[in-house]
Amino acid sequence: MSGRETVMSGWETVIGLEVHCELRTATKLFCGCRNSFGQEPNTNICPVCLGLPGALPVLNRAAVEYAIRIGAALNSTSQASMFHRKNYFYPDMPKDFQISQYDVPINAGGWLTLPTGRRIGIERAHLEEDTGKTTHVGGGGRIHEATKSLVDYNRAGVPLVEIVSAPDMRSAEEARAYVDELRSILVATGASDGKMEEGSLRVDANVSVRVEGAASFGTRCEIKNMNSLRSLGRAIEYEAARQVQVIEAGGTVSQETRHWDEGAGRTGSMRSKEEAYDYRYFPEPDLVPVEPSSSWIAEVKAGLPPMPASRRARLGEMAGMGADSEAVATVVRLGLDDLVEAVASAPIAGGTDDVGEPQVGARANAIAIAVKRAANEVAADLEGASRLDRPGFARLVGLEASGKLTSAQARTVLRSMLDSGGDPDAIARELGFEAMDTGDLENIVDAVLAAHPDEWARLRGGEEKLTGFFVGHIKQASEGKADLKAASSLLRRRR
Ligand code: ADP
Ligand code: MG
Ligand code: ZN
Repeated sequence: MSGRETVMSGWETVIGLEVHCELRTATKLFCGCRNSFGQEPNTNICPVCLGLPGALPVLNRAAVEYAIRIGAALNSTSQASMFHRKNYFYPDMPKDFQISQYDVPINAGGWLTLPTGRRIGIERAHLEEDTGKTTHVGGGGRIHEATKSLVDYNRAGVPLVEIVSAPDMRSAEEARAYVDELRSILVATGASDGKMEEGSLRVDANVSVRVEGAASFGTRCEIKNMNSLRSLGRAIEYEAARQVQVIEAGGTVSQETRHWDEGAGRTGSMRSKEEAYDYRYFPEPDLVPVEPSSSWIAEVKAGLPPMPASRRARLGEMAGMGADSEAVATVVRLGLDDLVEAVASAPIAGGTDDVGEPQVGARANAIAIAVKRAANEVAADLEGASRLDRPGFARLVGLEASGKLTSAQARTVLRSMLDSGGDPDAIARELGFEAMDTGDLENIVDAVLAAHPDEWARLRGGEEKLTGFFVGHIKQASEGKADLKAASSLLRRRR
């Protein structure tokens, strides 16, 4: 048992996440400046996003549409809403207020479903503008040790949707799974590129602890500055253990905003928690309320592609693997569904039964092989995956499903295809992978069974360990060319 588990035993962690998602619009939320990452600093700016006196905001319709798409994908209710000014001073915010949504967000309520089947509630998903970006120079980038700070306003005014979850998560692992799922959903809507490393998705974590089984929540701290899923997980685990230690030492947790220090692996106090009244919210006088018509909302909803949860359900069912299969989840998370779909729509690649009909389950078997290959070899080489030819992948899966290649051989051929392209049949021939089709395999199996009638009778009588005996003999008789998985399933069918 690790130290942390000892600290946490008898305690439950409660987590709610606030995720800021930059929208992939061509221009900013309230002006015509380009919304583009990685440009020369302070080149995409104008009087509006710099907050110069007299400049007036005009709402970007595309941002509203993306927000509605996100709402629909999260089972939220999109509604008439309005903008407020949230007042605070920070050098990266030239207006000294942020235009955001306060009591009436564009999307209210909702949920998403994790691959485990757990449903996590969504409280709201509202529109707001991003701030600029400061870079602290000297002192290792830490503000209090820096000699100077540089400000880039290119990001000021970039459209964001902030997605606020319910406090429904119970472990660091679940919080990471939530962000992963949310990222897949946001990418599927087309609203986001999902790039955490470029700051397109930024996560704040609210963490509290309570004695297992307690009815009410403990006091929470909000943690900022985690820029990967890994640091999100580490920060939550550190913070939960810290709170337990405070309480067990007889202290109380004070509600505050804390900063994650990646290098030191700990959170530190930043400021005591601000309340809504500190921000002096008031209705933005330069913007009218946003009232998307119900027909527009319905149209946006109808135009959404299938979301990850339904894609998992579909692939899991086609492959006979279940929607909660880890391989299925990986395929959907990485957006490799089209590889599997290519196999599903190819002619049945599988063996035939004794009377020459396609084997029951042959298609599901081929699809399951496609899921496994996509979740393993393809997932390990996403760059190669983008070049991988779909029909070629389907032919490769066909070779494995029909037993012409063993699974080890198929994996080798696939790695070569990912590496340098090419046709699976040609690569297999080049590598000297000889064909052993299902008919040949069946003949070998029958010969081996006939040669060992006593062992066969014992296996049929339930002595499972004899499977290994027969597989070994089949391997020998085929000079190593038999697909051993196919051989075991043949044995099972002969029984
Ligand atoms: P604020 O606007 O002050 O950040 P919210 O009520 O909007 O406060 O909540 C912010 C986040 O905190 C939400 O994601 C919510 O789920 C989460 N949260 C609220 N209470 C707790 C708690 N006791 N423990 C963990 N998370 C919590
Ligand atoms: Mg908050
Ligand atoms: Zn501008």
